Amino acid sequence: MEGVLTVLGSGTSMGVPTVGCTCAVCTSPDPHDRRTPPSVLVQFDGHSVLIDTTPDFRQQAIREGIRYLDAVLYTHTHADHILGLDDLRPLTFWRDGKIALYAFAPVVRRLQHMFDYFFEGDYTYGGKAEVELHEISGPLELFGVCFEPIRVMHGRSEIHGYRFGSAAYLTDFSEIPEESMARLQGLDILFLDALRRRPHPTHSTLENSVQLVERLKPRRAFFTHISHDLGHEETNRSLPENVRLAHDGLKLEFEI
Ligand SMILES: [Zn+2]
Ligand SMILES: [Zn+2]
Repeated sequence: MEGVLTVLGSGTSMGVPTVGCTCAVCTSPDPHDRRTPPSVLVQFDGHSVLIDTTPDFRQQAIREGIRYLDAVLYTHTHADHILGLDDLRPLTFWRDGKIALYAFAPVVRRLQHMFDYFFEGDYTYGGKAEVELHEISGPLELFGVCFEPIRVMHGRSEIHGYRFGSAAYLTDFSEIPEESMARLQGLDILFLDALRRRPHPTHSTLENSVQLVERLKPRRAFFTHISHDLGHEETNRSLPENVRLAHDGLKLEFEI
């Protein structure tokens, strides 16, 4: 079946432009250099699955005309991946039943802690998004499509990306364990973290991610979680032909 992946955000946690910064990329007139925090929307057969709720989810949803969500999958609980949870609220008005959130145990515990009012039965202090939290520990089937968690190391933390059909989305990692590499064969589309050129303790670099593409050989690769160190046009010119920096609003069709 045909799927469409939309890049809601392609930037690092602080976004580009970064507040207070006047560097060449932060002041670039190229719209591709404006990056909100990382998230993608996966649509297939009338269903919409979101990966992560960034602090800019509201703007991302308005920009892309999102009117309906079936489910949200979480990668991990850094602020840039979860803080937009409250902005699901209007989308829960227009549907029957709650929006399902899926996450591994440590993410479930953190969401219950940070958004305790969502999950308190007796909460009476105004509106909240109608969501239900489900703990997962392995592959998840949503509307006939398998979303397979892919374990990656984000510094010393173990977090997850997801593979769905011929696409995989891995944001926020410094290392991909060998057993996860084995699950990333035969891809049409591969998303990888590529923060910048200089090394970083919890993120992959441009050079490291290009090497991963050479090993994994997807048909097309896109880099995300991009900092203000990398200008869109200039960086793309330095990349192999099948590798591009993602940008906010990029839409890709693939077999799911
Ligand atoms: Zn992040
Ligand atoms: Zn992170």
